[in-house]
Amino acid sequence: MKLFDKFSGTLEIAEILTRPANHLLPIGISTDCLNSPVEGEMHGQKILLAGTNNYLGLTFHPQIKAAAQQALDTFGTGSTGSRMASGTYRIHTELEAALAKFFGKTQTILFTTGYQANLGMISTLIGPDDVLLLDADSHASIYDGARMSSGEVYRFRHNDPTDLAKRLRRLGSRAENALIVLEGIYSMLGDQVKLEEFVAVKKEYGGSILLDEAHSLGLIGPQGKGVAAEAGLLDEIDFIVGTFSKSLGCIGGYCTSHFPELELVRNNIRAYMFTASSAPSVVATAKAALKVLAEGDDLRTRLWQHARKLYGALQDLGFSLGPEPSPVVAVIMDSRERAAEAWQLLMSQGVYVNLVVPPASPNTSSLLRCSLSAAHSDENIDSIIDAYRTVAQKMGASSN
Ligand code: PMP
Repeated sequence: MKLFDKFSGTLEIAEILTRPANHLLPIGISTDCLNSPVEGEMHGQKILLAGTNNYLGLTFHPQIKAAAQQALDTFGTGSTGSRMASGTYRIHTELEAALAKFFGKTQTILFTTGYQANLGMISTLIGPDDVLLLDADSHASIYDGARMSSGEVYRFRHNDPTDLAKRLRRLGSRAENALIVLEGIYSMLGDQVKLEEFVAVKKEYGGSILLDEAHSLGLIGPQGKGVAAEAGLLDEIDFIVGTFSKSLGCIGGYCTSHFPELELVRNNIRAYMFTASSAPSVVATAKAALKVLAEGDDLRTRLWQHARKLYGALQDLGFSLGPEPSPVVAVIMDSRERAAEAWQLLMSQGVYVNLVVPPASPNTSSLLRCSLSAAHSDENIDSIIDAYRTVAQKMGASSN
């Protein structure tokens, strides 16, 4: 059918990624069952999961599962309504209050996914007279929010406060109406935002900051509160956005702020108004997981030990990596074809990582993206390193 002609490029990518014939298609591969947060079965093979964003490994935590089960018994399987209509349950407002308290803010809006949190907040906050300033490596949900907004959109160079300052300077007094969107830890290369410098730029030229802590919540900062808390800059961040789909181990999103006006924004966000609210069991999961996440630093310490060990070992093997050690360890490959071949080789050794190819990756690079978990054992990390060693031996590590 003619309507499908424009998708022929997608077919071409799928063919490249599965060459030679009968190889697994990395995109959308399905897990048949899980034996732990980091061990599953795919296509009848036992696989060590090293690409899940289950950073703290909380998906099977007994207290969290019990909270979800209790909510299921109390409220049933789904809310069957938007937050604006019948879909607000006590548990939704309790989680909003818990998140506001956690970040030392006053207002929180829950979203059904983190994608909708960025989409909804950015598209709604930015009106025709406003300006949006985006990091070039921003997540798709941020770009999509920008597309749906009615303001002017400018990109600054990735994690480059000087480039942002240049753009704000050109805006003159309009900088006051600018929203600067940053991410705590960037999802693809695992590098951390230069928050202190960005805040200094905002103070000099004006504007507001929206910080997406999707990959930093639970990983960094006191009680896992993220990079803003780690830098002592929570008060300088106007909007914190995040997701429950990573260290909190379920699904959902939020935006929290100290502006009481956030309540006015709430009832204008189409991605909030015209979709069902999260299922009560999911909300209960996020609430219980937030408590566990804040309780101690053991899981975080363990996660960073794994991250440093893997980063160092892959560096020693000669791989080209993201700029700094982080629970996201990205190996940069020089072509989609080589990245796909390496991915197949890792899978044949029972190790799953994310294969990221353009346009999903920053700059046109192709990545083997590992995201580690506190649930990984030391032996698991050794197995991941061994699998990459085989890749280096068979294919060469250099991407140049
Ligand atoms: N922001 C960033 C930086 C992300 O990486 C993601 C998910 N990959 C999201 C937002 C969207 O989160 P969710 O999975 O909850 O839709």
